[in-house]
Amino acid sequence: ATDSDFEFFSELRPGDRVSLTEVVEDISEEKTTGLGVGHFVTTLKTYRNGDDEIVATQRWRTLRFRPKSADAAAEKKPASGPIPGLRPRPALNADNAFWFEAAKAHRLVIQRCASCGTLRHPTGPMCGQCRSLDWDTVDAAGRGIVYSFVVNHHPQIPGFEYPLVVATIELEEGTRLIANMTGVAPEDVEIGMPVELDWIDADPDLTLPAFRPAAREDS
Ligand SMILES: [Zn+2]
Repeated sequence: ATDSDFEFFSELRPGDRVSLTEVVEDISEEKTTGLGVGHFVTTLKTYRNGDDEIVATQRWRTLRFRPKSADAAAEKKPASGPIPGLRPRPALNADNAFWFEAAKAHRLVIQRCASCGTLRHPTGPMCGQCRSLDWDTVDAAGRGIVYSFVVNHHPQIPGFEYPLVVATIELEEGTRLIANMTGVAPEDVEIGMPVELDWIDADPDLTLPAFRPAAREDS
């Protein structure tokens, strides 16, 4: 239960050092809402560039609430946002759409700097090593290990099955990504476990990489 207003004041340039401050502007009295009882918290984020000029501000109003019950919370949905029963949509933009498009074709791609060759994920416009804006992609082999993971029990969001394993996978190419796991019980997931690529075709518009325990390499 969040909404925000974004205002831009000046352009950023490559090399700008951006700072962010956030202040709590307001906390409402206790309110009873359809979601539960809670407070509306308003915060103001201010982004500044290296000359201490304000680049943008973002005011967030978030309802911090106690769900009426876990079941009621699972059924409720914001007026905008998730489509009932489906996984949340990724926020697509010019810097990440290629990655999700490749996933629809069951290709796990990794963004690569076209100048220095450094691989990066999450996707982004600029190389963190050499600041080049030129990039292409390589196809991941689809092998890696579980670098870390959590098992999510609550809050339960429609479109997912719980308990839900959310893992950080380290690919053999060196980049890491967050993914769910398939073909393994949550209690059997271990850090360091070798994994291989699988796919979750969540719905006609959304395919996401997932990882399952790697097949044994016998003989
Ligand atoms: Zn580079």
